[in-house]
Amino acid sequence: MTSSSKKFAIGIDIGATKIASVLLSEKGDVIAMSKVATLPAEGMQSVFNKVAQEIKSLMQSFSGEVIGVGIGSPGKVDTTRGVVYDAVNLGWKEANLLEGISRRIDRGLPIWVGKDTNLSALGEYFFGNGRGYDDFVYASIGSGLGGGIISGGQLITGSDWYAADLGHISIDPNGLPCVCGNNGCAETIVSGAGLVELTKGILAESSVKSLLRDYEHFASEDIILTAQSGDELALFALSKMGQALGVVLSACTAILNPSRFIIGGGLGVASFNFIVDAIDEEIRKRTMISSRQKLNIVRSNLETPAVGSACLAWYMLLGNTLKKKLI
Ligand SMILES: [Zn+2]
Repeated sequence: MTSSSKKFAIGIDIGATKIASVLLSEKGDVIAMSKVATLPAEGMQSVFNKVAQEIKSLMQSFSGEVIGVGIGSPGKVDTTRGVVYDAVNLGWKEANLLEGISRRIDRGLPIWVGKDTNLSALGEYFFGNGRGYDDFVYASIGSGLGGGIISGGQLITGSDWYAADLGHISIDPNGLPCVCGNNGCAETIVSGAGLVELTKGILAESSVKSLLRDYEHFASEDIILTAQSGDELALFALSKMGQALGVVLSACTAILNPSRFIIGGGLGVASFNFIVDAIDEEIRKRTMISSRQKLNIVRSNLETPAVGSACLAWYMLLGNTLKKKLI
């Protein structure tokens, strides 16, 4: 802990596999962190209990001033009411997360709830690779493709809490069916499952030698490992994923004129070196130079998405003056 930090926030990120928690200082130092299995099949109340227990554990082990709690959730998240809708991976159609957690904490501690990838964008803005950038787009590649937009120093949430849904822009209306009901969404290529399907298709159509032909089944991690050994076909598949992301980020470039794209998420970070050139090339093909003169593309360096969740507490308390106060 740095001696100059006097205030702290708790951040919780609810993922389909794990709940990650941090206690974060106002300087961005991670004072404590933990992870527990989410096990969403045990039900919504069980997940609420775990989140509340994480908050209590972080409070108990600490004597400093905690100003509030930020909680990130997948799905569509109404931050004003603290309600989560359609968090498919958690099995939640509608979950009053704010009410459920507040009831279990009973400490008068302010709690806010936000969409996970929006909070990651906030985390990048305050303590990650978005520092010093008032206009950037965060793109997270994992089990899906999500995003968060900071424009003019503000988090853009949209008219109905669903801004930055990068994964469900269809880039080929005749493409593969998507979980959302449309066809050819970017996420059908730019995601773990999407990359695997794309690679299988390339293997079937090509006679190029590849270490991937030795696998009975492979996952996105295997494609990365194979690419690291210089496998031409794996490298090609990853460049095609980068190209697809480049189509989406071209639209972002034309609409938002950002100065940076930050690529995060487990697969985004792992594949960054293999996709960045293809993303860049696609943006150059599809946009005017005037809209991208300041643009660069970097990898996320945040330790955990829970850091971004904690930043929601700072953001809600201090708004866009936060940056000036903290840095
Ligand atoms: Zn879709």
